[in-house]
Amino acid sequence: MTAHIIDGKFFAKQLREELKGKISDCHAAPQLAVIWVGDNEASAVYVSSKQKAAQEVGIACELFHFSADASEADVLTLIERLNMEREVNGIIVQLPLPKHFHERHILEAIRTDKDVDAFKQVMSGALWQNSAPWASATPQGVLKLIKTVLSDLTGKHAIVIGRSNIVGKPMAALLLNEDCTVTIAHSKTVDLPTLVQKADIVVAACGQPRLVKKEWIKPGAVVIDVGITKVDGRLVGDVDFENVKEVAAALTPVPGGVGPMTVAMLLQNTYTAYLKQKDSL
Ligand code: NDP
Repeated sequence: MTAHIIDGKFFAKQLREELKGKISDCHAAPQLAVIWVGDNEASAVYVSSKQKAAQEVGIACELFHFSADASEADVLTLIERLNMEREVNGIIVQLPLPKHFHERHILEAIRTDKDVDAFKQVMSGALWQNSAPWASATPQGVLKLIKTVLSDLTGKHAIVIGRSNIVGKPMAALLLNEDCTVTIAHSKTVDLPTLVQKADIVVAACGQPRLVKKEWIKPGAVVIDVGITKVDGRLVGDVDFENVKEVAAALTPVPGGVGPMTVAMLLQNTYTAYLKQKDSL
């Protein structure tokens, strides 16, 4: 068997085109505020791809860039102002923040209905209760990609490798909300290969290059690779792609899989926030 390769770029483009159509019917452009502190090289790439994609679909995206020595108070003052501004529908803070920042203080300051990254604790809680208005972008993008190959997830056994607050946990909650039976694995998990062998859906989000091996995969499983690690100048996923593609039914590549979906889903969350705020006026 050779896996169907799930083309994240294609589905992300499709999503952006749909959004562009919907936004062109809007009275005013939805607005997204991006806060970036410091000059982390990877963050620069992410921030500029978010700006470019927002512009493409008609979302007005304003970047607020602070130097690495900015204080928490500077950023909190800005968030307070953006929280109050009616025209601003979404606020995101590019992570990681410099070491002297308390990430939680900053993220929790964002008004919940503008938290389009869904990183606030209240948003995580709502997701686990299946009542969140949206989920964080990467897991939502993963779910979309899974649904391009599996129409009904009911009763499927899914394993999520990784339990971070921004990828692993919300991913597990989304799959549970789809009636999957979910296993969450992490660095202390014992006998990961045996657990993965039982799974119909494997989501690898642990940042360990090529960790997931062909022998671990149940023939016909759907495998989604969230991991991105730079190895010898190239981006490498958490799945041993070349070998796993021989047994999986469907598999995402790195790059070109989950990454493009993350940005598209962020834009979708901004649009959803815009609609909800308009409705509540
Ligand atoms: P974190 O470092 O925050 O979390 C990694 C998780 O993986 C932790 O829960 C950790 O366990 C677990 N883990 C580490 N090693 C192993 C192992 N050997 N076996 C099982 N579990 C393990 O990373 P993120 O969740 O933020 O990101 C994960 C990956 O996804 C990274 O490569 C990141 O670059 C990528 N990413 C990609 C995005 C995209 O758009 N494509 C977006 C966001 C992230 P423990 O909790 O015990 O430490």
